[in-house]
Amino acid sequence: MRAAIFQGPKDIVVGKRPDPVIQEPTDAVVRVVLACVCGSDLWYYRGDSDHAVGSIGHEFIGVVEDLGAEVNGIARGDLVIAPFIFSDMSCPHCQNGSTISCAAGGNFGDGTIDGGQSEAVRVPLAGSTLVPVPGTGHSDATLRSLLALSDVMSTGHHAAVSGGVTRGSTVAVVGDGAVGLSAVLAAHRLGAERIIALSRHADRQDLARRFGATDLVAVRGDDATAAVLEMTGGIGVDSALECVGTQQSIDTAAAIARPGSTIGIVGVPHGQVPFNATFFANVGWRGGPAPARIYIPELLTDVLDGTIEPGLVLDYETDLDGIPDAYAAMDERRAVKSLVRVSAP
Ligand SMILES: [Zn+2]
Repeated sequence: MRAAIFQGPKDIVVGKRPDPVIQEPTDAVVRVVLACVCGSDLWYYRGDSDHAVGSIGHEFIGVVEDLGAEVNGIARGDLVIAPFIFSDMSCPHCQNGSTISCAAGGNFGDGTIDGGQSEAVRVPLAGSTLVPVPGTGHSDATLRSLLALSDVMSTGHHAAVSGGVTRGSTVAVVGDGAVGLSAVLAAHRLGAERIIALSRHADRQDLARRFGATDLVAVRGDDATAAVLEMTGGIGVDSALECVGTQQSIDTAAAIARPGSTIGIVGVPHGQVPFNATFFANVGWRGGPAPARIYIPELLTDVLDGTIEPGLVLDYETDLDGIPDAYAAMDERRAVKSLVRVSAP
């Protein structure tokens, strides 16, 4: 089959990988319909994080083509959403809500295991990993939003949940990438009354507004901290959501969180998280990779009834052959998030 191959920083090509087949009775083979490029893929693309040579991509939806004998809960022909990792949902860590730590789990697109940016994927632990989508004939807009549940919207939701967003609360979202915008949408969905989006880009500000942002801060660093503190009477926000992972965004989140609050952090930290600096304000840090498999069912309901449209973060589109530019477009900030259209549903 054809698949994106990570060869090294700034070097993604479309190449050949073996056609996926059932290897374990708990496997499924999924034909990929839509995939996308993650902000975390960019860390590899830019050489800021290591990635093995080989398969890449961990966000996809597709159609089940083949099933092992022990797979329950899905059938051939089902449209399914893949969370960005596979998990058994039965080990102690899954039962405790941290599917990323699954004793039997693993990562799609890690160089060896099939990635989503390909024609098909062998999905291990398919029955406990894949989420079937009810109904048929979904619109392209709906499919794009279902794809967003695979990672980006689940991650934005995790930021909001980790940061303790509740009805009526005041939230600030640090980061206007796809995850930050999704966190705005998630905070709005959870009933936040005031949502301050930190964004310097007009198109991203527009989407933040559409997703529920009530205030915009178009500066960075110390200026952003001063602006948010002024907006909140010097107190800070109930929930600061860190959605980038750079030192500056981590420091901004720490500086605008009100005493006694919890920062929701989902940007992969490429800097130091300053716990000593927040300790005396009783500010906590909570977050990490989202347990997407746990969040997808509730978010799926809201996508299907039109309450949320997280697929709007996908503002660039190509096919599998266009994979190199799908990365370059995000790297060069021509795109917030790149959609890869692989096959017809
Ligand atoms: Zn597990």
